[in-house]
Amino acid sequence: MRTLDELTRPNIRRLKPYSSARDEYKGKTASVFLDANENPYNQPYNRYPDPLQGEVKQALSAVKGVDPDSIFLGNGSDEAIDLLFRAFCEPACDNVVAIDPTYGMYEVCAAINNVEYRKVPLDDAFRFRVDDMLRKADAQTKLMFLCSPNNPTGNSLDRAEMERLLDAFDGLVVVDEAYIDFSSGPSLLGQLKERPNLVILQTFSKAWGCAGIRLGIACAHPEVIAILNKIKYPYNVNLLTQREALHMLQQPLQVQQWVDVLLKERERLMEAFAGLPCCLQVYPTDANFFLAKVTDANGIYARLVEQGIIVRNRSHITLCDNCLRITVGTSEENDALLEALSHEAV
Ligand SMILES: *Cc1c(COP(=O)(O)O)cnc(C)c1O
Repeated sequence: MRTLDELTRPNIRRLKPYSSARDEYKGKTASVFLDANENPYNQPYNRYPDPLQGEVKQALSAVKGVDPDSIFLGNGSDEAIDLLFRAFCEPACDNVVAIDPTYGMYEVCAAINNVEYRKVPLDDAFRFRVDDMLRKADAQTKLMFLCSPNNPTGNSLDRAEMERLLDAFDGLVVVDEAYIDFSSGPSLLGQLKERPNLVILQTFSKAWGCAGIRLGIACAHPEVIAILNKIKYPYNVNLLTQREALHMLQQPLQVQQWVDVLLKERERLMEAFAGLPCCLQVYPTDANFFLAKVTDANGIYARLVEQGIIVRNRSHITLCDNCLRITVGTSEENDALLEALSHEAV
């Protein structure tokens, strides 16, 4: 691996970060806070939140088995993705390599940061090709993006192949595990300690049922995390979000129950969906959604919208011709979808 200094943009390497009042005083014993120009009234919203979210990280550390100094928390995974570009990719100079199709935000963040985005197509079984990714890379490639289970295809990527990429590529490999709690396979979190070039993204938005609070997780070597912390907005995760996350982290059994129910529903929904006249193929999935090829994705999508049922039309995406992406809902919601689609002609 190139050294972290070699991978980091020179201006970020040199940066001396903003130091907030809450950074400079970290003790708990003080009772008179006259350091941050806050209003003394309107508790508890009057106070700035903990800039490094210590309590949330402690609780998350216990749940995930990752040291707190290997955890970055942001305003959704999207913040972590953007910060990775800003930390490591020099605009108009560096590039990143990613599988295709995958989550759209990597490409959008690349474009916003004026960083070249190199796509490597999955094969027709949605498997990724390590050697093609390595061939696409050059000395200016700082990041590679994998997503497992992948969005929108739903499948998990081959673990041995991901490890082979981590061994062979000398930059950072970002593995987005937004759907890992629904997967039959294990997370790569266990390899964090041996792999300084591994960055794992997870989120509170899916299995944890908290898309509304905007809380994303990046796990990596402490030196990578320190760089992200250096360039983030000082108070990037607000007080309400930190509180709700702590509350959720105290009920992991609730989350496991949701996952169990959704996996059962997924099986039922996919089987019924496969039997619909308008369905040509249902693809295997490891997530809380599945991809399906249908007779006429655009028409079916539009007719579902008229009935107030919204799915994701992915038919314009690489390898997803005439495909809809269906999120598993409650059994009532899934039944409403099946009922509406049963009237679709072949
Ligand atoms: C939904 C999703 C996320 C979550 O993003 P947040 O900003 O944390 O809500 C991240 N990655 C992928 C691949 C997703 O599908």
